[in-house]
Amino acid sequence: MASNKKLLVLPGDGIGPEVVGEVRRIVDWMDQRRHVSFDISEGLVGGASIDAHGTPLTDETMAEAMNVDAVLFGSIGGPKWETLPFNSQPERGLLRLRKEMDLFANLRPAMVFDALADASSLKHELVAGLDIMILRELTGGVYFGEPRGIETLPSGERRGFNTQSYTESEIERVARVGFELAQKRNGKLCSVEKANVMESGVLWREVVSSIAGDYPDVTLSHMYADNCAMQIVRNPKQFDVIVTDNLFGDILSDCAAMLTGSLGMLPSASLGAEDPTTGRRMALYEPVHGSAPDIAGQGKANPLAEVLSFAMLLRYSFDMGEDADIIEAAVGNVLGAGIRTADIAAPGQTAISTSEMGTALLKELDKLAA
Ligand code: NAD
Repeated sequence: MASNKKLLVLPGDGIGPEVVGEVRRIVDWMDQRRHVSFDISEGLVGGASIDAHGTPLTDETMAEAMNVDAVLFGSIGGPKWETLPFNSQPERGLLRLRKEMDLFANLRPAMVFDALADASSLKHELVAGLDIMILRELTGGVYFGEPRGIETLPSGERRGFNTQSYTESEIERVARVGFELAQKRNGKLCSVEKANVMESGVLWREVVSSIAGDYPDVTLSHMYADNCAMQIVRNPKQFDVIVTDNLFGDILSDCAAMLTGSLGMLPSASLGAEDPTTGRRMALYEPVHGSAPDIAGQGKANPLAEVLSFAMLLRYSFDMGEDADIIEAAVGNVLGAGIRTADIAAPGQTAISTSEMGTALLKELDKLAA
């Protein structure tokens, strides 16, 4: 059956192919049980592409990524390629994808499955059932602003400097993604900046407020970034979607991620601009973790971050929220039944392999879809 859902799968290096392999089994399951088919192509990225083609991303694979509806990415890197010159390293493949697809909106959910609430460094009751989304602007702000550099002053002392800079359109496009996310979730958007001390924050707040009228079903609030850091650890469940700039988002998303307790559980999405005529948005979905060379090839990797990235892909690129819900529910039920890979196993719990986790998920999906 021909499909209008074009997907490019880039498994990459280390545990990437192992965890992506478990998603491919879910894709097959969806084909058979829910009659959803994808038009899937698979490519090389990172070290695997360096070995085959001498570059971390070929022009052909880059062009394919621009042409599909969504890219599902595994992970890249490893000791084999660490000694290559900086510009030839595996990571350049991912950076090129992000840059050329102009992926300015980085979505990092922090979700705590009840069964894992004790793995968090916070108290059980603060994080059980947590489901918040940090939306970080990814292509602007102080990491890219000019002027930047290290200069030597007439006194001989050196001065390092960077520029925090946002245009109205850069703020508006990420804020609109934030409002749209809130519409698909619980209808609350919290915009985070430092308008009390930074002009870029004043503009940020003005622009976000000026478009709020377009989303009457979303309740907008504003918070200073330092207060937000406190609130994330004091009472994280007060939030639904947080939208913030590149620097604050970098810090706040890592902080929120740790509420969940494990790297093997964290998905992410990076979205580009919406094409006004087709409504299509460039998008790349990937787990937060890397290629985990220490466990690669041993069948020990936790595939759930990749599986949850795929659930995000269904929800945000294909508007298949119901299917995403079923996959997330299957993950919750499997964990609830005490099924664990080594990284999330509590003392005394038996750890299963990557593919056994995949099999457990498929069984659960069968039950949920029955
Ligand atoms: P890492 O995320 O690969 O691993 C950190 C630790 O977490 C390791 O002990 C690893 O075994 C464990 N871990 C990670 N994912 C896991 C999973 N799914 N299941 C079970 N355990 C898991 O980070 P690192 O060790 O700092 O980096 C290893 C390589 O990955 C480096 O080459 C780095 O550059 C690369 N990296 C790639 C990405 C990416 O592809 N986006 C992100 C981060 C790091």
